[in-house]
Amino acid sequence: MTKQTHSFQAEVAQLLHLVTHSLYSNPEIFVRELVSNASDAADKLRFEGLNNAALYEDNPNLEVRIAFDKDARTLSITDTGIGLTEQEAIDNLGTIAKSGTKDFMGELSGDQKADAQLIGQFGVGFYSGFIVADKITVESRRAGVPADQGVRWVSGGTGDFEVETIHRPERGTTITLHLRDDAEEYLNAWKLKSLINKYSDHISLPILMEKEEWKDGENDQPGSMVKTGEWETVNQANALWTRPKKDISQEQYTEFYKAISHDHEAPLTWSHNRVEGNTEYTQLLYIPGKAPFDLWNRDKKAGIKLYVKRVFIMDDAEALMPTYLRFVKGVIDSADLPLNVSRELLQESRDVRAIRDGSTKRVLSMLEDLAKQEDKTQYNQFYAEFGAVLKEGLGEDFGNQDRLAKLLRYASTQSDTPSVSLADYKARMKEGQDAIYYITADTLAAAKNSPQLEVFKKKGIEVLLMSDRVDEWSLNYLQAFDGTPLQSVAKGAVDLGKLQDETEKKAAEEAAEAFKPLLAKLKEALKEKAEDVRVTTRLVDSPACLVVQDDGMSTQLARLLKQAGQQAPESKPVLEINAEHALVKKLDGSVHFHDLAHILFDQALLAEGGLPEDPAAYVRRVNALLV
Ligand code: ADP
Repeated sequence: MTKQTHSFQAEVAQLLHLVTHSLYSNPEIFVRELVSNASDAADKLRFEGLNNAALYEDNPNLEVRIAFDKDARTLSITDTGIGLTEQEAIDNLGTIAKSGTKDFMGELSGDQKADAQLIGQFGVGFYSGFIVADKITVESRRAGVPADQGVRWVSGGTGDFEVETIHRPERGTTITLHLRDDAEEYLNAWKLKSLINKYSDHISLPILMEKEEWKDGENDQPGSMVKTGEWETVNQANALWTRPKKDISQEQYTEFYKAISHDHEAPLTWSHNRVEGNTEYTQLLYIPGKAPFDLWNRDKKAGIKLYVKRVFIMDDAEALMPTYLRFVKGVIDSADLPLNVSRELLQESRDVRAIRDGSTKRVLSMLEDLAKQEDKTQYNQFYAEFGAVLKEGLGEDFGNQDRLAKLLRYASTQSDTPSVSLADYKARMKEGQDAIYYITADTLAAAKNSPQLEVFKKKGIEVLLMSDRVDEWSLNYLQAFDGTPLQSVAKGAVDLGKLQDETEKKAAEEAAEAFKPLLAKLKEALKEKAEDVRVTTRLVDSPACLVVQDDGMSTQLARLLKQAGQQAPESKPVLEINAEHALVKKLDGSVHFHDLAHILFDQALLAEGGLPEDPAAYVRRVNALLV
């Protein structure tokens, strides 16, 4: 049979370069990755075997064997799983099918430490073998195909790999690592057992190693361990989530999380339960400590693996978790679903809906527990990573809106960090205050310095500062908290209601009256830009600001929509002016009235992070006045 040489997909070559140039701080994880692939291969056979028992051929055993050869310096991992055809070996071991691979490559910075972190999240799977090996041989035969259609795949982990057809009586795959000089430590049974114990104990598949025994040396030669030809199972070989909680250590839970999430770091918290009732299932759900690089991709699948009666059914079972909880990782094992359940079927199943509701509630209570802790470090960490995603839930999960609203945290005029809950805010409301005030802007700094806050600052009324992109949208769905309405300070006329005293109210009315002629002139001058011009009491130091009509879309949201290439309804803002301001007082009777009016409007736009429609005209006008 002839050998064919193939090139790796460019992304794989790039990844391999990083892997082999020791980006890994933790080389031993290759054991976890390769054993996990073997376990996936067994899962696939178990699944396909449900409808086609012939795939088992004459060997019903699903298992992994790990062997090493000190003289040849090789370590091999053999499974009796589904195996690979020649074409599958070329496709699956030469390209990365994972969605987002290109994005991922784009995120790499060239800074080794940062990249090592990222790559850990991405999960290099099979290619992790090249951390310790300078050559990998894969021999495989797919279950159900004839013995003369086996395949051998060989690569040194640089630009290309070779493939040839071989004769292989056993189904499944053997991966042989030709270890580098500095990876000799893995040629040791004790070391390997301890790694299996650490990383792969939770795998439901038996992992076997050949027993060794001590043999004294002859003729004064030192003794050594020799293989006995007898194989023993070296892991517990039952899926972690099926064991009683009390038998699982913190470390085992953590390692299991790392194995299923490709995260280097420990999770923030987890919850492991058997749920009984109408639908029966086991859930083991984790909240990660760090957001993955593709968190913002709403198409990103949920991180839930679905099992039915311990048979693996699918990864990324999105029907089991709402989109706004897509950061949750874990396993759900159902006792009721049919084994042949498909993604389409999952969408419609009543059992699935019950599992999803139950799991959503479980995640929310985990978060509530974190939020309740005396020490807020963990909740703050969670919120910094995932708070913005959680907010999507306001519009997505009406049933849990009250619970979600309690979990939200915002920065405010009294706190630079997002640590103010709506309940905290309510507790601090001023006598006579009947709304929760907030402002949205592109950045925290823009929100904090917005002219619209001036009167609130002066009166010491707290305002929530919102700068997440999702805030504006999500607040459409949260009109009130615990009976108190939420009110944007940039919408409608300010009505401070009882917070304003009588003299202030009177002064405002008089100013409005006195300014009537000026307002009419301004309105005429700005009729293309402003819906209305009026006098306001919300400003203290600034001459003017823009607000939207009560029922209008905020300028911030309109801008976001336009940036995203979407149609935003054309609505003109209202210009509000500060009757007390020197610039405004100068306006009337000025020969530059027209230019000043436009400058006033454009500055108000700039102050809230927008851009004048015609920036050059703005600059011309200001310069003309400066000269
Ligand atoms: P992932 O497992 O995340 O898909 P890997 O790089 O680990 O990525 O593996 C790539 C593909 O190679 C797998 O999806 C699978 O199709 C195939 N593969 C790897 N190891 C095995 C194995 N032991 N048996 C069968 N197929 C395997």
